[in-house]
Amino acid sequence: MLTHTLGFPRMGIDRELKKITEAYWKGEKNGQELHEQARQLRTRHWKIQFEQGVDLLPVGDFSHYDHMLDTVALLGAVPARYEWRSEKVDDSTYFRMARGDAGRGGVTAMEMTKWFDTNYHYIVPEFFEGQTFALSSDKIFREVDEALAAGYAPKPVLPGPFTFLGLGKSVTPGFDRWTHLNAVVEVYEKVLSRLGTQCSWIQLDEPVLALDLDAAVLDRFRPVYERLAKAAGSAGILVATYFGSVDHHADTLLSLPVGGVHIDLVRAPGQLDTFATKLPDGMALSLGLVDGRNVWKVDMEAALKLVDHAVLLLGADRVMLAPSCSLLHTPVDLDVETGLDPRVREWMAFAVQKCAELDILRKAALGQDVQDKLAANRAAWDARRSSPLTSDVDVSKRMEAVTDSMARRVSPYEKRIVSQRERLGLPLLPTTTIGSFPQTPEIRRTRLAFRKGELDKPSYTQAMQGFIAECIEEQEQLGLDVLVHGEAERNDMVEYFGEQLDGFCFTANGWVQSYGSRCVKPPVIFGDVSRPGPMTVEWIRYARSLTEKPVKGMLTGPVTILQWSFVRDDQPRSETCRQIALAVRDEVVDLEADGVAVIQIDEPALREGLPLRRDDWKEYLDWAVECFRLSSSGVRDNTQIHTHMCYAEFNDIIEWIAAMDADVISIEASRSNMELLEAFGSFHYPAEVGPGVYDIHSPRVPPVQEMVDLLKRASGVLPADRLWVNPDCGLKTRGWPETVEALANMVEAAARAREILG
Ligand code: GLN
Ligand code: ZN
Repeated sequence: MLTHTLGFPRMGIDRELKKITEAYWKGEKNGQELHEQARQLRTRHWKIQFEQGVDLLPVGDFSHYDHMLDTVALLGAVPARYEWRSEKVDDSTYFRMARGDAGRGGVTAMEMTKWFDTNYHYIVPEFFEGQTFALSSDKIFREVDEALAAGYAPKPVLPGPFTFLGLGKSVTPGFDRWTHLNAVVEVYEKVLSRLGTQCSWIQLDEPVLALDLDAAVLDRFRPVYERLAKAAGSAGILVATYFGSVDHHADTLLSLPVGGVHIDLVRAPGQLDTFATKLPDGMALSLGLVDGRNVWKVDMEAALKLVDHAVLLLGADRVMLAPSCSLLHTPVDLDVETGLDPRVREWMAFAVQKCAELDILRKAALGQDVQDKLAANRAAWDARRSSPLTSDVDVSKRMEAVTDSMARRVSPYEKRIVSQRERLGLPLLPTTTIGSFPQTPEIRRTRLAFRKGELDKPSYTQAMQGFIAECIEEQEQLGLDVLVHGEAERNDMVEYFGEQLDGFCFTANGWVQSYGSRCVKPPVIFGDVSRPGPMTVEWIRYARSLTEKPVKGMLTGPVTILQWSFVRDDQPRSETCRQIALAVRDEVVDLEADGVAVIQIDEPALREGLPLRRDDWKEYLDWAVECFRLSSSGVRDNTQIHTHMCYAEFNDIIEWIAAMDADVISIEASRSNMELLEAFGSFHYPAEVGPGVYDIHSPRVPPVQEMVDLLKRASGVLPADRLWVNPDCGLKTRGWPETVEALANMVEAAARAREILG
């Protein structure tokens, strides 16, 4: 019964990879230093896994930026604009694909998008007509040699050809990227024939199987995998699936002439039966038992039931044990988290601990004596289940008392808007921003000093009020219509709220990779969520005291808070989300009582919570939208509720966006030249929309006329009296000079558009 991992976090416990990579980009470290650090990290990570009892060590899971980009390099699938001509993809070409000619104009980066429903972003492969493919990187071979030299049993890991093509995009209009499948597979054959002589297992990740797939694509799995299996020779191919059930594709999967299949039994335990009963002779089944997407200990008792069931049907030697997916999505090591409440810490396991769990599960399944370990696991779970830290009777009572009408505004939009317009007295095409203003080094320093205890509360408050005052002053001078306080006090739009809510805790070092060198440290929701007291009211009150204009109250919505946290796994996500919704609702009601007339509840993560398969969308969207409404509906008709979403497709969920029943939604639209807005037009979106008129990702100052043109386009889609004027997203990553210039142009553009459209 082999144990293995599908991948390990790359960054290092101290985010060494991030640090050296950024220093390399700045020219402070050279390529040799970068590669040496990377080599040390790989060696360290194999050693850790080996010492925890993992048999097959992943190789190729390590990446300098992203594993899909590594595959682009492996296959020589470099887009033409990088003018790459050599035999091997060098570091410079690799990082230019990832980042473009950062800041220097010139060539743009390849697109990046979310890896399934995780917060990890991969580089989207580009396919075009006439493209050729050739083995163009030695990385995987070098790393396998490295692992062998260190005395380990390497299991090379690559995205499979279907996932590589499936998650890519065609850049030639109308071009079917699947026509490249044969050419791509030819390169895979070369890779596998070389790896096959050195390794007993080769893992090809095909998580696309958890999605809906066209029959035409599905039909090609078997012939392709026949070729691959042949190329791999005596090595067994392990087709790894994760993030959801692949039950709907079981026939295809089980028809492949491969050595094994990995299934995610954390997300989809129900699929075990299908696979264990139908598994052909000679095929192994890898059970994904330990949650690779979360920070909790495995429930060994429950996991062992699954193992026993599989062993009964297949025999122990055809069963492998693994985490559900790559451990890339979990923090590295719980041992360094000395600041956590020890009682909560006891319920957790990070990547290192998860490796150890596999070994215990294996020993237990094989009847070896690990009674003490099992008992400890059981005690941790018992403590968690009965802990007063996780359950709060007041929260349960409130949850029970939730009624449908609490998620409904008093009147429909058409009626509300009349009283809101009367109260706010805004011009046609009102101007506003999305919330944050530049987070200057001074702001960051001030927050850090307060956090470290170097600055006392009164001095901190005073400093923050200073930033708010500057921000209001600038907006007044710019002539914006609805102001914001600027969010200087927020390090992060989820963390800020999590820190003030009960039921959350924070790790010191629980970083996970988001994209490239960027890491995030998600809060952990371990218990019932409630709001001990107001979270934003005083800042907004102060901002309002400085101006006659309306100031928006700014909140993060329940779905986004849920989506960007590690969520407890002992109750449904929908339940946790509803608790957060009630906490946000309390804040909304308090803001209103304090006199705030406009409240924005951001939900940028609503779309990324969508289940992988369309059949499951409705269930999710029903509760997600209900939670947003629960958070936003406690107010009177004349209080205006805004929401904000960005950087996602909205077309296919437009009816749910409408069902959120916000009075105003601001969305990113400038990058697509207002195309995104068309969904709102053709759907006859009933309320008001602020389509972003400029991209906030670059310091570029958009000319007035450009924004006037966008507004004209927008007015062709929605009536002008239901349009707002705002940037695509928050301005926190920008500097002040370009922000002031851009907003001045935006205000000017709104004025001109009013003349034209008014
Ligand atoms: N209010 C937030 C801001 O302006 C919204 C950020 C977001 O959409 N991700 O920063
Ligand atoms: Zn945004």
